[in-house]
Amino acid sequence: MLASKIFTPTLRDVPAEAEIVSHQLLLRAGFMRKSTAGVYTILPMGHRVINKIIKIVEEEMNKADGQELYLPIIQPAELWLESGRWHVYGPELFKLKDRHNRDFCLGPTHEEIITDLVKKEVSSYKQLPLLLYQIQNKYRDERRPRFGLMRSREFIMKDLYSFDRDEEGLDISYQKMFDAYTNVFKRCGLKFRPVEADSGAIGGNRSHEFVVLAGSGEAEIVYCESCDYAANVERAEAVNAGINPDANPEKMSKVATPNIKTIQEISDFLQVSPEQCLKTLVYLADGKPVAVVVRGDREVNEIKLKNKLDCLELELARDDAVLELSGVPVGSLGPVGLKGIPVYLDEEASLVVNGVTGANEVDHHLINVNYPRDYQAQLIGDFRLVGAGDKCPVCQAELSSARGIEVGQVFKLGTKYSEAMDATFVDEHGQRQYMVMGCYGIGITRTMAAAVEQNYDENGIIWPLAIAPFQVAIVPVSNKDEAQMKAAFSIYRELLKRGIEVILDDRDERAGVKFADADLIGYPLRITVGKKTVKEGTVDIRVRRDGTEMTVPLEQVEQEVMTLIERGK
Ligand SMILES: [Zn+2]
Repeated sequence: MLASKIFTPTLRDVPAEAEIVSHQLLLRAGFMRKSTAGVYTILPMGHRVINKIIKIVEEEMNKADGQELYLPIIQPAELWLESGRWHVYGPELFKLKDRHNRDFCLGPTHEEIITDLVKKEVSSYKQLPLLLYQIQNKYRDERRPRFGLMRSREFIMKDLYSFDRDEEGLDISYQKMFDAYTNVFKRCGLKFRPVEADSGAIGGNRSHEFVVLAGSGEAEIVYCESCDYAANVERAEAVNAGINPDANPEKMSKVATPNIKTIQEISDFLQVSPEQCLKTLVYLADGKPVAVVVRGDREVNEIKLKNKLDCLELELARDDAVLELSGVPVGSLGPVGLKGIPVYLDEEASLVVNGVTGANEVDHHLINVNYPRDYQAQLIGDFRLVGAGDKCPVCQAELSSARGIEVGQVFKLGTKYSEAMDATFVDEHGQRQYMVMGCYGIGITRTMAAAVEQNYDENGIIWPLAIAPFQVAIVPVSNKDEAQMKAAFSIYRELLKRGIEVILDDRDERAGVKFADADLIGYPLRITVGKKTVKEGTVDIRVRRDGTEMTVPLEQVEQEVMTLIERGK
């Protein structure tokens, strides 16, 4: 491809609306343009990257016995009413009406459509297992689309659905997909981790996320260096120990604490560590109040709490609501003698000996509070966020934490959809059984953005070789120099002959502009053809990732490029 022919409008300045690196660089380097809020046009450079990711995904899905098809983007409301999701999916569901006033939605996911298809076409155990997938646009009406392709309203996804006759079959399909996903992200050249995840609104009972590691990522994960354990912090299990297990419980007493409200203030005032304090927070679960008690140095894990309460909506109660419900202002709350609000006690907090809590009385706290001597709980459980320094639930080593971007997720759905939509088959004994399902997604456009978040420097993108729009850029220093242009075209043709994806920057621009664009767009290898080429018969090959540069005789250029590509530079 000639750079003069490809439609790549690059920008000198960082667009004002772009908050994160991938958004900025994909706009600046001419990979995409905004159409409207959260909706993007993918330009030819971006299209090349996306096609490469799609090719890798398709190869791995097909290897794992997946069969590709196209499902409709427009889905009738009836199917969503049948599955029970029409009213609970929330405002992210893009709803529309046709001219006959019938309700539809733009598919954010395709469980309903595919379950409906399979239940009509599959009737015998002999037709299972079945793994069907598609790569297609998906829609989510985000309240606040931002971060470019990270949280857009239209995006490209691969979604695969597995149908098995029983749990054992699902285990096999799930493992196949887990392995296929591992291969996909390895082949894309990305650093990633599969982590245990919460299965959230989609339902089901087991799930892993594939997280591309990047400091800017929204997902926080914990992982163990000593074993394979890794989990999203939303999901990570707490391993709890008392901080002073041998201390003797002292007699509980009330102390005056004028104007002391926060954990830090009480900790300073009474000279106790935050771990010794108990923090009481009031939430509204579908409107009903619950008090959650965690240690003063911990945060409540709202996902775990929501799952335990099995509620649709969970929100922290406002200060005035807390006062109205309990008769006590927020800073003075505590579990001892708390009236009218059930207490959910984090297990770790229950182990605190001689704890400090609000006394449910303005400007007073209780010291030497011990569970269960001094207060009761409706439920003891795991309600806190796990972080770096916590113990690994598998091997007890210390966990580390990292941030990343979720690019794929695999779920065991079980019979949630097949029961709701009556998708059954007849087994070899003539018995009707529900199909056992799994679903497996990869964000294709998100993977492109995540690759940029993980691979860039101050000059631009550094594409992993496998998904770079072109592997090699040839940059002649001067377009006016006929000998240089002749040498550049000769290398260009030779590389094309060997099947290498190469772009020749034949634009009538200064060398500095061409070098800057090559760095911004992020070609893994750059070949500079200059005066030396004409005089000495050599070119410079530069590796974008680490900046190493080598001078190579013209007759060895193709071989050197092949070697670097094979090494994965
Ligand atoms: Zn471990």
